[in-house]
Amino acid sequence: MKQIKKLITILIPAYNEEEVLNPLIHRLKSVTAKLPNYQFEFLFVNDGSSDNTLAMLKTLAKVHSEISYVNLSRNFGKEVAMLAGFDHINGDAVIIIDADLQDPPELIPKMIRYWEKGYDDVFAKRKTRAGETWFKKWSSNSYYKILEKVSHIPTQNNTGDFRLLDRKCIEALRQMRESQRYTKGMFNWIGFNKKELLFDREQRVAGTTKWNYPKLFNLAIDGLTSSTVAPLRISSIFGTVISILSLLFMLFIFIRTLVFGGSVPGYPSLMTVILFLGGIQLISLGIIGEYLGKVFNETKNRPVYLIDEYYSPIALRKSEMRRDG
Ligand code: UDP
Ligand code: MG
Repeated sequence: MKQIKKLITILIPAYNEEEVLNPLIHRLKSVTAKLPNYQFEFLFVNDGSSDNTLAMLKTLAKVHSEISYVNLSRNFGKEVAMLAGFDHINGDAVIIIDADLQDPPELIPKMIRYWEKGYDDVFAKRKTRAGETWFKKWSSNSYYKILEKVSHIPTQNNTGDFRLLDRKCIEALRQMRESQRYTKGMFNWIGFNKKELLFDREQRVAGTTKWNYPKLFNLAIDGLTSSTVAPLRISSIFGTVISILSLLFMLFIFIRTLVFGGSVPGYPSLMTVILFLGGIQLISLGIIGEYLGKVFNETKNRPVYLIDEYYSPIALRKSEMRRDG
């Protein structure tokens, strides 16, 4: 009896990637052609592109039967686009890859080999990050160090979303439906059997990065506030320490006034203390606000994303096979 081949979905979130689609599919096909024992699905999530990405996908899908796509109703960001992808995966495993070929598809066979050995999450760790400034490298490095310290969940430094996930990881991630997502934290949170692969991150083949510092800053705040409540704890500790110190200072002033009488000077020290405490209070309020805003957004219980169109010849084939028994 002929064994049914395992199906592997390659998930590609794409936002304004018209320039890279052709080289991407070319590279993916030349890699997957060398893996005849598997079936492949290229699942694109068009994240509200304003260029010709969708039109190109439609044309390409007519030529390449592996291509499926989910078209989101607007730009939701890569994190949400990945969830939309997870919800439409037909494969036994998924490989998440960036559209811009910064993640070399040539690593795919190796990932699959480890998956067959029983690993559930084979993630690619960057040895080098070509085309990135020292500041981006340094800031991302220190960020992960802090995140790991305060969240007590191991983080994967220098790791992106480029990885192979077994079906059970996908099922786990699909259950995590928060709208302000930090998927990198989720990969760690779900656990399972992990394996690290090293690779050299390349430069984009074309187009420009969709990330800028404000966007990265937002992602960083989301990463912190969705993985841990440590900032709330830190602000309570800070508040307690300052209260104790000011109580001691108050006693000191009280006794000094009793012993030496009142004194007029002290305006500068008064001012600095007031301003300093005011600043601390505002920061603490801001931290509480961050969490409150998260609670507010999640309690609205809106769908995380909306779909305009889903096209998948593979899903169709699968449901036909089920119907025919
Ligand atoms: N992306 C997306 N939605 C967005 C921004 C980016 O789906 O709002 C996709 C993008 O098309 C690419 C991947 O996420 O496939 C990584 O984006 P980019 O290369 O801009 O990020 P960088 O590599 O600079 O971190
Ligand atoms: Mg990129």
